[in-house]
Formats: sequence, structure tokens, C-alpha cells
Amino acid sequence: MPTREKVRRRRRTKIVATLGPATSTSAVLTRLFLGGADVFRLNFSHGTHEDHAARIAMIRELEHRFDRPIGILADVQGPKLRVGSFGGGRVQLQTGQRFRLDLNPTPGDTNRVNLPHPEIIQAADVGATLLLDDGKLRLRVVRKRGDALETEVAVGGLLSDHKGVNVPDVVLPIPALTAKDHDDLAFALEHGVDFIGLSFVQRPEDVAEAKAIIDGRAWIIAKMEKPQALENLDEIVRLTDALMVARGDLGVELPPEEVPLAQKRIVRAARQAGKPVVVATQMLESMISAPAPTRAEASDVATAVFDGADAVMLSGETAVGQYPYEAVNMMDRIVARVEQDQGWRAMIEASRPAPEHSVADAIAAAARQIAHTVGAQMICTFTASGSTALRAARERPEAPILSLTPSDATARRLALVWGVHAVVSAETHTMTETVARALRQASHEGFAAKGSEIVVIAGIPFGQPGTTNALQVARVK
Ligand code: PGA
Ligand code: MN
Repeated sequence: MPTREKVRRRRRTKIVATLGPATSTSAVLTRLFLGGADVFRLNFSHGTHEDHAARIAMIRELEHRFDRPIGILADVQGPKLRVGSFGGGRVQLQTGQRFRLDLNPTPGDTNRVNLPHPEIIQAADVGATLLLDDGKLRLRVVRKRGDALETEVAVGGLLSDHKGVNVPDVVLPIPALTAKDHDDLAFALEHGVDFIGLSFVQRPEDVAEAKAIIDGRAWIIAKMEKPQALENLDEIVRLTDALMVARGDLGVELPPEEVPLAQKRIVRAARQAGKPVVVATQMLESMISAPAPTRAEASDVATAVFDGADAVMLSGETAVGQYPYEAVNMMDRIVARVEQDQGWRAMIEASRPAPEHSVADAIAAAARQIAHTVGAQMICTFTASGSTALRAARERPEAPILSLTPSDATARRLALVWGVHAVVSAETHTMTETVARALRQASHEGFAAKGSEIVVIAGIPFGQPGTTNALQVARVK
């Protein structure tokens, strides 16, 4: 058997990389994975099911080749409004020109483009503002026809296929999951993705509706990109499995000065609940067309790491950028550098939420403390559903968390979780057997040197989720 290169991350904060035209071959995906991508995101706003299926197959092959679980996030579009396509892929709109949005599905040009949403054309009045491509372009409705909006370009720029449209002045009568979403959801679940990204969540009911359909087959990542969702944050956090600070649309719908505070608030709420949280969009935006980021972008990634987010995400940088590998590598370097800093550790300590009043949290907190006191190199959890690993990660311990699980699905989901290195391993039945397995895996995975201590936590009886109640310290022989 050929020896496989062992993939071991030196950082706790995970990296999500969005795939797209720039990242569609197995060779490129391999480079992104080795460079630091822990989770790959498929954006169902773009691409065909065929494209997504091909990438899923490549990722699973990669996973097998390197014997490491990799998470796949299927991000469904939700009630996001988008323009149609253009003949040449893009057009340049000049400030002051007229531009029509209509129901005609044929490719657009510099005079018009398809807006396949009759309800918006109905609901937008003369004077309403339409924001395109994350607010980069701005149109004002000057005339309304039954099947079209005539606009004046207030701020021009380059507009390409399927760019988003936000209409802050208009209340949109659109359901949380569109017909396309239902179709994409069924496809994604059939193909065994690990996370479903729910776009434009507004109400807790939106999460509940998706949850009823997904039925535990994937974790739900509620994307926080609407002001209405912030008003319902606590209830959404309670219902969802994970969250995303989706700053692209959030920053269009909210004034820019509100976005940093929203980010802090969402990350804090997620950490309090022990649910993974991803900070997303424009983190290294300039790397779409440059091999190095701006200083401000490097700082932005660092801020998310200081906040204690589980993961940071790349979108256009890896989906359509000229430097997808460099972007992942840069993110990896920034995260790793921050995590070596004493000040970072101090911030993580200072922002740790108190344990909830449960045995599981008492054990997770004790594991972190004991590991700190004895200088253990690893905390080992046994987890079927992932819940023990999540509670351990909520503590943000200094030692990495090796999570052994009999479930491929759980191991893949844990790829998103702060500090967790998941390994698929057969079920154990007694504490003695469990500790022996933990010791073996700790040295096999290269985490603990001979003579060092590890802390093992588990739930007895085994195989019942949410029963974490046992802790043992063991020495690697
Ligand atoms: P999107 O979501 O890339 O699907 O729009 C992320 C965001 O809005 O920030
Ligand atoms: Mn969005």
C-alpha cells in the first residue's frame, strides 16, 4: 500500500473554501485541501447539478486518498434575487444611463437584463432603489410597466451573470425555501453533503421548516444576512445546528457600521450555545485578482480568529479568483500566526462562556482544566452524534481535541468545528477499551508524544448521544 501523506493542521480555526469555475479539477481541489481547506462549499446559486455532483465525487475521492474526513457544504440560494445572464457574461453599466429589468429570459445586454421575479417587479415602486452585486451598483426605478422596471443607473460598474439584487425598500412576499431550493436540497441530501447553508433566513420558522425536511441528514447552517434574522437571533440559534455571519448580503441590508457589531453578536451567541459559527465573505476579497491581500483583509481574518469563530470562509477568492491556492494558503498562515499569539489565547480565555448546568458541560470544562494543569497534549472525545466534541470545543481548550467517532457523517461535520481533529474509529464498549483506543489513536495520529498525558472523555453507556459523564487521564506509553 502506498504511504499516505498525513494531513495534520496546526491551527484550531477551520477554513471553508467555496468552489467554482476556478476550482473544478481534482488537482486543484487537492492543492486547496493540502493548503488548508477543511470544508468545501458548493454554491447552488451557480453551477449545474452535474457540476456539483462531479465536485462531490472528487472531494470524496480526496477524502479517501488522504484518509481525512472533509466537510461538504451545500449552500442553497434561498429567496435571493438575482439578475439573469448576459450574452458575453458581463456588461459595463455607466452612471446616468437607463437600464431595464424585465421578465424576458433571453440573455441581457447593456440596455436590459432578465429579473425573473414578477413579485419584485410588482412590489417595487417608482423611486425604489435596487442594489446589485452586494451593493456595488445602484439603480433607481424611474418607470414601471407590468412586466419590467425602467431604471436609471445611480452608481454604475461591471455587472456579470446572476449577480444578486437587494431591494431594501421593499418587503418581499417570498417563501424561505423556493422551488429551486427544494430541488437542490433533495439533490444535495441524496449526494450525502454534510451541511446545508440556508440563505436569507428571516424567522425561526424558516429554520424549523428546513429542519423538518432535512431530518438530521445534514447540519443546518443558518446564514445571518437579513436584519430580521438578527431580531430573532436567540430563537434561530436555538433551532439551528450552526450559523454563518454572511457579511455580503448582511452588509447590503444593514449600514456598514452595523456589520462588525452584528458579527461579534452572532459569534458570541453561537459560542454561548456551543454551535459552530462561520465568518464569511470578502475576507481576502482583493486576492480574487492579486496574489497578496490588503493589510486590512489580513486584519479582518485575524479579528474573526480573535473572536473565537469556528471557521473563516473564502467565496469568490477560491470560486472565481485567479489565486485560489494562494488565498487558502494566506488564510492558513494568518490563522496559524494569530493562534501562536499570547494575546489571542488571553482573548479566548476571556470570552469563554460558563458551562451550562449539565454533566456533559461539567466534564468538558474539567477536561480543559485538567489538560491545562497537567500539560496534556490532547483531549480525546468519543462521540456518536458529535455532541461531546461540540461541548469540548465550546471550552476552546489549549490542547487539540481528537474526536473518535464510528460515523463518517459525524467525522465530516466535525471538520467545521474549532479545534477538532476527527477520526473514524470503531465503537468501543468499556472505559478500559476506550482509553486504550484513545492512547493508540493519539500516537498514531501524531498528537501525543511518549510519556505525555492525554485526557479522555466519554459517555457511558456508549452509543447514547448526550451522555458525556466520564473522564480519565492516561499516559502515552
Ligand atoms: P452568498 O452568502 O455568498 O451565498 O451570498 C454569503 C453572504 O451573503 O455573505
Ligand atoms: Mn448571501
